[in-house]
Amino acid sequence: MSQWGPYPERTEDEERERQEAEDRAGESRMEQRRETMGNLASLIAEGDKSRREDAAKYAALDGDRCQICGAQGADKRSLRIGYFYDMKEIAPEFLSLWYVESSEQLQRMFYLQTCKSCRAEILNAMRETINKRRALRGQELDHDGYAD
Ligand SMILES: [Zn+2]
Repeated sequence: MSQWGPYPERTEDEERERQEAEDRAGESRMEQRRETMGNLASLIAEGDKSRREDAAKYAALDGDRCQICGAQGADKRSLRIGYFYDMKEIAPEFLSLWYVESSEQLQRMFYLQTCKSCRAEILNAMRETINKRRALRGQELDHDGYAD
């Protein structure tokens, strides 16, 4: 028999060990999948809980109070934004309209009630950012707008 000849047959012990190792690997993969599914389920449940809490906060909002600085009195402004982004990551005061609105388009939006001063600062920050980003026109950018 040459050195490249057929591999020697496995003994029964080797075959049992190989099968047991395969079984352990399979069980480990299944355990990882169960853990992943459990994590996903708890993430979904947390998101749903947060949306329900936001609906309750929205219903209890004092229409005369700025959610940001707390200024009290008439003439508050409402911002509704749907930007395919969880606005609660920008500020926890944003309220999901998921369980407030009935149309799917509005459900995906977030709500913020502010005084006119907070509105002015938010809009100025937006203006400054837009002006800064507009200055990038003509530069080499990837499809997400990042410089290469
Ligand atoms: Zn304010």
